[in-house]
Amino acid sequence: MDPTESAKAYGGPSHRKVVANPHPRWVARPPPLRHELLSSWLHRLAMANGLKDHTFCSYMFGRQGVWNRDLDRSFSVVNQARLGLWTGVSESHIQSLMLPRWAGRLSEFVNANGNSDWILPMGVFHRVRRRHGLLFCPVCLTEGAGDAYWPWRMAWSTACVRHRVLLQDRCPRCESPYMPHRSTPSLFGRSPCASCGFDLSKSLPEGARTDDWMFQERLQSALLRGRTAIMGTPHFSLNLFLGLRALATALLSAAGAELVSRLTGQPLPASPSPGSKRDIENQSICTRRQVMRAMWPLLEDWPNQFRMHLRLGRARRSWFTWDRGPLPFWLQVEVDRLTLNYPPGPPVRTRRQLKE
Ligand SMILES: [Zn+2]
Ligand SMILES: [Zn+2]
Repeated sequence: MDPTESAKAYGGPSHRKVVANPHPRWVARPPPLRHELLSSWLHRLAMANGLKDHTFCSYMFGRQGVWNRDLDRSFSVVNQARLGLWTGVSESHIQSLMLPRWAGRLSEFVNANGNSDWILPMGVFHRVRRRHGLLFCPVCLTEGAGDAYWPWRMAWSTACVRHRVLLQDRCPRCESPYMPHRSTPSLFGRSPCASCGFDLSKSLPEGARTDDWMFQERLQSALLRGRTAIMGTPHFSLNLFLGLRALATALLSAAGAELVSRLTGQPLPASPSPGSKRDIENQSICTRRQVMRAMWPLLEDWPNQFRMHLRLGRARRSWFTWDRGPLPFWLQVEVDRLTLNYPPGPPVRTRRQLKE
């Protein structure tokens, strides 16, 4: 049977009058995977039922365009209920696949449409994604074509914790963002690029450094548990991520970039959009990776390493001035110890040596 006819037989728009009770359900209903995003699950459901994502959703949600928005952040309660009826998955389970579940843990709230702290922007334009806001692990894609998981939307994510390889944010051939909802597996590849067809699962994986995946594993664990002991003492994850974001913003300043360079041994790549704010979510994956690598030694043996490195980097309190309200206490007490300003010239220690 034609897939379209098959879908209509299970309650498509033209058969709504006929089918009243019980509510129709899709024949194939693969359950959501652990850590999976809502968009990824919808994509898998559509593939399992032999339909394109847009057609599949039109049977459940009518003519509303669910794919022309960042549906992992914005998916109405009505649509959640409808999806639950069609799949037999509870609404609470569906909500747990969306990024707003992290409100209160990752940031105070998650914007449905605007920018949100630590969440990579997608640059939605109709059904196309203009920005590289969804990462992917090529090894994960060999196991599950077109899958996507919530850590792949986080600005602090740079490595796959499972496979210990670096995450990628674009097609190696044409540099298009990863848009699984616009492509389906074919003879040419299991996870083809939506623009050029290159099989993203064949993109060469690059091994991650130990600090890449270890730091990320701790952050993932902090987010899942809602608390952490990353600095020796217990903290709520919200305070941790708020402080880390302030630290990342400080490291992305011109002065902070020198400290990043000293801590990582490499200069910070130039920001692709120098006019934009120093928000970590707006930086390239290379810049974000380097900032996270610089952050890791600063947090070790807290606060001793932080004090030493920031003193050597001649950090000022003004590095941590931002528009997000007060800093969390664990960071504020250390920022209060920083000098308001340094006198011009070389560091004091160097001048003493010169006198002798
Ligand atoms: Zn992986
Ligand atoms: Zn491509």
